[in-house]
Formats: sequence, C-alpha cells, structure tokens
Amino acid sequence: MPEGDSLHRLARRLQVLVGERVEAESPNPRGLATGVARAVDGRVLERVDAVGKNVLLQFEGGVVVRSHLRMNGRWRVRRLDDPAWRGTPWLVLRGSEWEATQWNGPMLQLGAHTARMIGPDLLAPGADLAEIVGRLRRVDQARLVGEALVDQRVVAGIGNMWLAEALWHGLVSPWSSLAGVSDDDLQQTLAWAQAAMRASVDGQRSSRAVYRRTGRGCPRCGEPIRSRGLGDANRTAYWCPACQPTATEREGFEPSTSGLPPVTP
Ligand SMILES: [Zn+2]
Repeated sequence: MPEGDSLHRLARRLQVLVGERVEAESPNPRGLATGVARAVDGRVLERVDAVGKNVLLQFEGGVVVRSHLRMNGRWRVRRLDDPAWRGTPWLVLRGSEWEATQWNGPMLQLGAHTARMIGPDLLAPGADLAEIVGRLRRVDQARLVGEALVDQRVVAGIGNMWLAEALWHGLVSPWSSLAGVSDDDLQQTLAWAQAAMRASVDGQRSSRAVYRRTGRGCPRCGEPIRSRGLGDANRTAYWCPACQPTATEREGFEPSTSGLPPVTP
C-alpha cells in the first residue's frame, strides 16, 4: 500500500499534463469498464493533487477521477517521443508532449462532493495539526489510536509504516484508545509523521525503528519489538512494549518502572 508521500511524488510527476486537453483511452478491458476514459476524453486536466493515499485528477467541467493505488497499481509518465510501454494500461492520458499511463487500477470517477469526504491531507501546505487533533476528538474515543490515525476520512496520508514509526517516536501505544492519549501526544505524533513524510517526498530516507522489526531490539531501550494484527483491516501494528505502554499498562507498573523506560546507549 503506497503511503501518502509516494503519492505526492506521483502527483508532482503528473503535473506535466496539467493545463493540457488530453486524449484518453483504456486499452485494458478492466479499465474500459470503469468508464473513466470516456468521461475525461477531450477535457482539459485542470489540476492533480495527492490527497492522502489518493491522487485526484480534476478535469474541466467538474469531473474528478480518483486513483487509489493498491499493491500493484502504478502510473508511468513518458515523453511521446520516448519508446511506448508494452502491455495494456487501464488508462492512457495523452497531451501534446507527455503521456501518462495507469496500470492495474483501481480508478473511480467521482463528483467533487465525494472527493471532499477524504479527510485533510497531512502533507498539504498549511495542514493544521490542531485541527486534525480536533477531528480525532470528534470520532468515537474508544477507537484505538493505531486504527484512527490511518482512517483516511479523519486524516489522510498516513499508512502502516509511518503510523508505526510515528507512534514509536511519540511514545504512544497503537493499542491506546483515543481517550487514553493527550492532545499534546497526538499532535507530537502527527508532527513527527508530517516532518518525516515531507522529508521523504523530497527524497530523504530514514531508518526504521519498529516497522517490520518484530523481535529485534528497540533502538531506544533494547526491548524486543512486538507485532500483532490490529483493527478491522487487520493491519499489523509494530510497537515497543516498554516505550509505548497503554495508560492501563502504565498504571499497572511498579513505581520503580513507571513512566518512561530507562534509556540504554
Ligand atoms: Zn523501547
């Protein structure tokens, strides 16, 4: 599942077609069945934005296409005088100099209203973290943090990897209920995710502390990292049981081990 930062990179690459009247076609029958090519053929592509894990392509006349790339979906962009790709893409958008092709959907044509159902994008310029914390406070406070922060209707852009890393940096357990986490802790966790994902959009790579490191030592305290399925989608949560206790676990600790775990070099 691509994370928000990779979709921002994609949205940048697609900017070469913005302002162009595009020819659209769907060589792949599954792409044809979506009706997207027919809906956008001959229209001017007005803007392309990454919103969370979606790329929204906005065409003249209020036609919005949402491209949500799951595991195998991808876009390719080439100059028309470069060799054509082999195979049958789901959607081809051709301008005067550039061509973008979309492979292994899914795509959906949306009205502008449905496009607004997606929560505020963590990576949008001027994204307001206090407002996002406010949105988190308006959903059921019994929901687990590790599930609410990847709910794209609440805040868009965070995927499983950045979730695990941000919670570890914020010392927040994915198994805490929203009620068990302070506004400050939520905001700091979001701020870390935002900064790390923005750096990633600009091509910087960071090392992982917990994601896919089950059984290896926590970089902060050495305790083995744990993992377990969490939420309806059964995503795998990764966390350090010592650095990221839930409120209940914290209260259950002996005084000598309460609060933050000892830091080992
Ligand atoms: Zn730890």
